[in-house]
Amino acid sequence: MKIIFLGAPGSGKGTQSKRIAENLSIPQLSTGDILREAIKAKSSVGIEAKRYMDEGNLVPDHVIIGIIKERTGEKDCSNGYILDGFPRTVAQADALTEMLVAENQNLDKVIYLEIENDNVVERLTGRRVCSACGAEYHIKFKRSEKAGVCDLCQNELITRADDNEEKIRTRLEQYDQQTSPLIAYYEERNLLKKIPAKGDIQEITQNIMNALEG
Ligand code: AMP
Repeated sequence: MKIIFLGAPGSGKGTQSKRIAENLSIPQLSTGDILREAIKAKSSVGIEAKRYMDEGNLVPDHVIIGIIKERTGEKDCSNGYILDGFPRTVAQADALTEMLVAENQNLDKVIYLEIENDNVVERLTGRRVCSACGAEYHIKFKRSEKAGVCDLCQNELITRADDNEEKIRTRLEQYDQQTSPLIAYYEERNLLKKIPAKGDIQEITQNIMNALEG
């Protein structure tokens, strides 16, 4: 299966796509996570991406498309994958369509997590991530057992550099201008499934599973 998760920053794409990937035993590919790893490793891609990410802007299409082509070609993707945070522009979506046509493959579904902008700021400013394993928490909605410490690996929880109100506003603008046209893009191709992103995490996962099976 090849599935895309689409939605505004803070819609829960990361959380839900990881849960679904586990259920389906396929890898979850997050371009944001791949870029943050590249920054940590100080690779040339990481150095180039950092200045865009720190401002809440999108990283140029050619960089992202290169990353996805390379990553989806790896062995663990042979039974499919979930894309979290890609595509984010029409040019990226076109590149993905072309890539899949060349491989004689197709997309199965696009899960669109619908959320109102008002809820996004609270979700993102309260988000904490593990500095080592990347696991996500929230100071109100998903607390770690011990404040500031990851339940899974006991390392320190941090706030992402782009999770402050100013950067969140920029990210939402980028989403509205560049990414939201993909809703119509995939609707026209009969691939879009809209899922309300508010409420209980497990319930949302179940709704997504139902949409994928239906
Ligand atoms: P995320 O972890 O998905 O919220 O992504 C964090 C940041 O990484 C974004 O604000 C962008 O700067 C960058 N990024 C991630 N995925 C993409 C993409 N598909 N296209 C452009 N920039 C991206």
